[in-house]
Amino acid sequence: MSQGEDLSALLLEAAARMDLELTEVQIGQLRRHLEILLLWRRRMSLVSQRAPRDIVAKHFEDSLAIVRQVPAAARVADLGTGAGFPGLVIAVACPGAHVVLVESKRRKVSFLREVVRLAALGNVEVVESRAEDLLGGATGAAAFDRVVSRAVWPAAEFFSLARPLLRASGSAIAMRTPADGEDLVTVAGYRPAATVRYQLSGGEDRTLVIATREIS
Ligand code: SAH
Repeated sequence: MSQGEDLSALLLEAAARMDLELTEVQIGQLRRHLEILLLWRRRMSLVSQRAPRDIVAKHFEDSLAIVRQVPAAARVADLGTGAGFPGLVIAVACPGAHVVLVESKRRKVSFLREVVRLAALGNVEVVESRAEDLLGGATGAAAFDRVVSRAVWPAAEFFSLARPLLRASGSAIAMRTPADGEDLVTVAGYRPAATVRYQLSGGEDRTLVIATREIS
């Protein structure tokens, strides 16, 4: 088995675990993302794991878990996307969505642009910016159906940052781990949050905290 097939098999398994059926083209795009990650991780810290299997289990599988919460033609923003988790994975899995990846570190932005180019993703915009600075700009105000984030801010801080970016019935989704230790029920400007719990194949517990904008 060539390495390409090997990586594809890992990604197919991860998608299946999250109950998603992805096409060969989509698996190819995720594989391209993973391959570039494996190349670039020698030069910069993008993920801490070394083995492709661990990177897939920790990052791709987790990112695939949020796909179900994204409507087919949604406008999505991922704040602090890093190496593209979950935003790039959402863009691949939801080709009808438009995904804006927001990242403040230039080198990570270069990485993201390289993946977008080589995986031929036509539905992604990479914005080099601090998320806080988006609010005044054209990309920002009330433009998104979903604003997502993984491993950047405490949930309450993320929800207040996301609030002005959301359209009237849009939702913000925070991807959390038990270590975050938060039990978030209400946030100003949102209806009471819902949680979706799931497990990664390594047995780790994960939670999506989903809050829908209160129409004001
Ligand atoms: N979401 C990714 C990366 C998490 S690490 C994942 O789950 O793997 C946090 C990332 O957020 C880093 O890449 C960092 O550069 C970026 N970041 C931190 N503060 C930010 C801000 N204010 N605006 C935009 N990006 C930010």
